[in-house]
Amino acid sequence: MKKNLFGLSVEEIARVLLPLQVPSYRAKQIAAWMYQKMATSFDEMTNLPKQLRSTLQAQFCLCTARQKAALHSSDGKTSKFLLAFEDGTAVETVLMRQPYGNSICVSTQAGCNMGCAFCASTLHGMTRDLTTGEILAQVLFIERFLAQQGQKVDTMVLMGSGEPLMNYDRVLGFLRLVHEPYALGMSYRNITLSTSGIVPRIYELADEGIPVNLSISLHAPESELRTRLMPINRKYPLAEVVAVGKAYGDKTKRRVTYEYILIEDVNDSIAQAKQLAHLLHGQLASVNLIPINPVVERHLLRPSQERIDAFENCLLMNHIAVTVRREMGTDINAACGQLRNRHLSER
Ligand code: SF4
Repeated sequence: MKKNLFGLSVEEIARVLLPLQVPSYRAKQIAAWMYQKMATSFDEMTNLPKQLRSTLQAQFCLCTARQKAALHSSDGKTSKFLLAFEDGTAVETVLMRQPYGNSICVSTQAGCNMGCAFCASTLHGMTRDLTTGEILAQVLFIERFLAQQGQKVDTMVLMGSGEPLMNYDRVLGFLRLVHEPYALGMSYRNITLSTSGIVPRIYELADEGIPVNLSISLHAPESELRTRLMPINRKYPLAEVVAVGKAYGDKTKRRVTYEYILIEDVNDSIAQAKQLAHLLHGQLASVNLIPINPVVERHLLRPSQERIDAFENCLLMNHIAVTVRREMGTDINAACGQLRNRHLSER
């Protein structure tokens, strides 16, 4: 099988090309073709000697992602793609045209085995971790899509299927690569990593010198309920998760966002809003309320607008910064994992 160059850093490409005895600056040229000029074949790399291009073609490949399905919301603001890799494994990648720019949501694992009760991505378990190149391929796919309209990706969230911190090394490789000036040159400030709260990995991430925004899924203000919604709470309980969130904010000086999915009659009462405010008191943190996109398979319902407003107001009155996620693409079933699940069921 040919070795895939896509997803490698300049240093890694140079190492792979060593036996070919090509000058090391060729590695930088190849990286620029792959990541900046979005070349999909060695033939396009016209500043490489023809002989080298044929050798590369014979020994290596540039495997990225191909589109299996796409859904576009009627307001044109959200597009959801099902992208497949070499072995047929498919993941969802979403483009959201926000007022502040084009934001994309990428997956880090195919499926997920964290078992969160409200999440469609976990219904079929996890197929496998994605490689650095496969995570990057999702970004480049959307870059190519946007380039046709003279636009580009502005911000990115690692919030698609999978728990990024359970695929730590590859995700870190991706974060470093996407930040490199020879790749996308994306500022860490424009990247948000979302986690269900893998405590030791968050401490490690804080020490990496990669100050991405951190978003922690909380979803409940007390441990018992959180365990029901997120089984990972048994291993990394609420109090430890909030403590590591504070440590991450202190170390990186980045504001930590706590995600709180609002589910009718489960975690949307005023008493629970007060409990949540108490839990986060004194932290450089904000809460992002996400009225649930109903998951039919799990019978979880969205609260009324009055209850959402009341929950938000209670947090504000208790001096907690709060946002409510705007609904986007509900007409294309934007809940994570649903497009992929349909694909899996069809298969
Ligand atoms: S919410 Fe995230 S961590 Fe939880 S099951 Fe879904 S993809 Fe996995």
